[in-house]
Amino acid sequence: MRFASLLLVLTLGISTAVPSDAQSTDELLLLKHFHSISSEEIAGWMAEICSPKYNGRLAGTPEYIASAEWMAGKFSEWGIKPAGDNGSYFQWFDHPYTVVNEIGSLQLHLPQKDGSVIKKGYSAPADFYPGMNSGNGEVTAEVVWVGYGTTAPELNYDDYKNVDVKGKIVLMNRDVPFKDVRDPEYAKWVRYCYHQYKAENAAKHGAIGMLYIDGNSANPNISYIESMVVTGIGPEPLADIFAGLGKDNKTLLDQVDKTFKPASFATGKTVTMKANTTRHPEGKTCNVVGMIEGSDPMLKDEVIIIGGHLDAVGNAGGLLVAGGFDNASGVIDIMAAAKALAASGIKLKRTVLFLLIGGEEVGLLGSKFYTKNPIFPKEKTVTYINLDMVGNGTGLGVSASETCKGLTEYFKKANSTYIHRPMRVSTSGGMFYGRPRSDGLVFLADGYRTMNISTTDGVKPVYYHLPGDDETAVTPEIMEDVAKLIYLSFIEMANADTLTY
Ligand SMILES: [Zn+2]
Repeated sequence: MRFASLLLVLTLGISTAVPSDAQSTDELLLLKHFHSISSEEIAGWMAEICSPKYNGRLAGTPEYIASAEWMAGKFSEWGIKPAGDNGSYFQWFDHPYTVVNEIGSLQLHLPQKDGSVIKKGYSAPADFYPGMNSGNGEVTAEVVWVGYGTTAPELNYDDYKNVDVKGKIVLMNRDVPFKDVRDPEYAKWVRYCYHQYKAENAAKHGAIGMLYIDGNSANPNISYIESMVVTGIGPEPLADIFAGLGKDNKTLLDQVDKTFKPASFATGKTVTMKANTTRHPEGKTCNVVGMIEGSDPMLKDEVIIIGGHLDAVGNAGGLLVAGGFDNASGVIDIMAAAKALAASGIKLKRTVLFLLIGGEEVGLLGSKFYTKNPIFPKEKTVTYINLDMVGNGTGLGVSASETCKGLTEYFKKANSTYIHRPMRVSTSGGMFYGRPRSDGLVFLADGYRTMNISTTDGVKPVYYHLPGDDETAVTPEIMEDVAKLIYLSFIEMANADTLTY
């Protein structure tokens, strides 16, 4: 920046300045809006979107839609164009959902010597977590341990082979006995990793209840089965069920993993599970989509997409998970970058699409819907960049699929020139044989060039799908730098004459 041109621009204002050097004006503009991205504004938006009025933004609920409208309102205020259905900011799709009205209960029956029964109750969320897609009602039955809840005849593996679970409560673990998601063999097991599959298989075998050993946190990514009550189970009731049986869950699983021989058995213990839920089969939800249209007659057909999920896991009868780190952090960073890009007035030759995704927590539904109903053709999409859980730490991370590893250079340059954070860069691919657990992997599996922006070296505790995940679970300062990274690298990427992938 030459001092003379800086002075001129400051005195006359940008629109009337006659710069001696066009690059200086560009850089001034660039820096003005770079510095306008503030952690204070970011913190304010975080508080808004994590507010109880949005009730944990469970996709399908009116509160989620209210949060989507708030986001769209911001796009509109900043002059970001709608890119959704019929000229709106919304891309709608069907999305049945379940509301958990009350926490419910979990009790273990303890038979006494005199023939009476004492019921030991447990408390949520430490001991159990209400199933976010549970059927409504109360069931009392014997607990049957069924390992991974998997029936895979082609793999000669069946957790239900030697047990009868009709009218019983099944106790099972997430995942499958085959562990290496990088091994092509894993592909044969992947369909059995889905929570949906496990619930449906339990119901098919006649179970009326399902106790799921899956981190004991909110998980709406499981099938709704009207006739089956589902609850996440924590360490204490699990230990109580195994008490006196001479075995435990971990030892049994290790044995199954080693031998691929199921070890299912009836525990002889009785449990009462109660859930209070309402199903909404008529639910609909949406992605929020806005764009800055490219200015170059040819290059405007090419689009850079940046996305992150707006939905979170909701509120289970008072257990509100506001979804701060997961993933208000991602969408708010996209918003902060979008505002600066739009306000700067810097022309972008290529188009930028901002995609705030709905239904991620229920099974990546919003990204699946987008890839089946793309707003811009896949062949014209430069890359899809995903943000999920950014904003906890002191460093930046950028990763890219093999197909677009060259694009990481734009992020490295932005960081080394203006931001100066430690940055981890990975270009190793990202594809694996496991169950896809992020929107980015949905795009990658569909053949898009895909990138991921993250933060590293976390400094705050992570409350994954738990009530602690609110706006205080992030550090706004690193979020500011993530937004700045997007802003800077997008200006370069959108304006490069040719992109090196
Ligand atoms: Zn997430």
